[in-house]
Amino acid sequence: MDPSLEKVQEVWERETAIVEGVDISGPWNRMFGQRVIWDYTPDLIEEIAQLPGGESFAWCYQCGKCVPVCPVDVVGDYGPRKLYRRAQTGISLLDSPDLWLCTTCANCLRVCPKQVDMIQIMPAAREQAMLSGRSIPAELQEALENTAKYGNPLGQPARKREAWVKDAGVPVPILHQIQRPVEWLWWVECYPSYHPRGIDASIALARIFHALGLDFAILGREEKCAGDSQRLAGERGLFEMLAEENIRTLSKYEFQHIVVTDPHALNAFRKHYPKFGGHYDVWHYTTLLARELPRLRPLLTRALPYRVTFHDPCYLGRHNGEYDAPRQLIQALPGVEFVEMLRCRENSYCCGGGGGGMWLDSFAAGRQRRRLSEERVLEAVSTGADTLVVCCPYEVSRFEDAVKATGNEGRLQVRDIAELLAEAMGLSGEAAE
Ligand code: SF4
Ligand code: SF4
Repeated sequence: MDPSLEKVQEVWERETAIVEGVDISGPWNRMFGQRVIWDYTPDLIEEIAQLPGGESFAWCYQCGKCVPVCPVDVVGDYGPRKLYRRAQTGISLLDSPDLWLCTTCANCLRVCPKQVDMIQIMPAAREQAMLSGRSIPAELQEALENTAKYGNPLGQPARKREAWVKDAGVPVPILHQIQRPVEWLWWVECYPSYHPRGIDASIALARIFHALGLDFAILGREEKCAGDSQRLAGERGLFEMLAEENIRTLSKYEFQHIVVTDPHALNAFRKHYPKFGGHYDVWHYTTLLARELPRLRPLLTRALPYRVTFHDPCYLGRHNGEYDAPRQLIQALPGVEFVEMLRCRENSYCCGGGGGGMWLDSFAAGRQRRRLSEERVLEAVSTGADTLVVCCPYEVSRFEDAVKATGNEGRLQVRDIAELLAEAMGLSGEAAE
């Protein structure tokens, strides 16, 4: 036997141990010996691990690496390690409010040595909770019912989806009207079509596309929610219905690429629509505009006197690997000073909107010291920035609410990258100049 192992052998299960004259007595040395595991049952771990997608729940070995990176744990008491331990000690994830608090941000998966994958576990467990008749938070239920009935979580009529284009001040072609092939099909998504601040960003982006001479068109009233957040919230059936309908609609038109406003739609098109036969070349608008920088840069003629910081959307960064394009665009803005937050790029914090969190704000608020969006706004303020730049449609409204809730109105503005680019191009305001 290896001599060092012999020394270990000597101290197994001894309350008093002196090795080479050094007293190493203590209960710690019991870790080397056999123990009867009597204080938990694996049943509630198995309850999750036996679900398709839930398998890795059982792989956790409690190393704790996920603890400091989970954004929910920063403002509460959470994370995969804790969920596993709670299941060990008799708390069923299916019956716990914990089931609805994960935002599927993927920061734990980034660091987990065992690849415990909450991005698979959470949708599987949530679906099981729904199928087994457990109650789900009322606000989430409403968003899911709206999506099923109207094709968007806001409960807005389909015909209003294209209403924003009349305020764009530039032509925004709609495919069912123009009936011709285009190079870029712009997937606008729900919040940029209906929410007032989302519409601001859509108008800015339409003006930029127009100024660049892009050959683009939107689906308008024919577009339905891409459905990724509903899938992550546990409504796989609803997601599949939306995917099939959207793919059917897209098959009516000729286009070369899809450009999306929303990183959640990017994720759906790239990773999940192919399973239903929808194969597309999909770009986030920041990636497209960064590619167009040689033509865009000369149009950025107005200096913006802002000190800005940037929030990486989880579903653009960690989930789809795009960190550079938004930064290239920000750094191209004349007059702007750019400062990073401490938690940025791969380790970026989460706005709280992913994985169904967009529709669980009140539910989560009662279970956390502060909202994730408020935590992020405080971090942005701490950099000395006066502008928080975003490029996901969930974020403008979430962060603007958080600015008010944290008493930072007048100190921090929240702007989509498209809005800042349009401002630097002199395209802001009632009509494009
Ligand atoms: S990092 Fe992975 S293995 Fe370690 S405690 Fe967290 S979930 Fe468990
Ligand atoms: S995916 Fe994000 S929110 Fe969910 S447990 Fe992991 S780190 Fe926490």
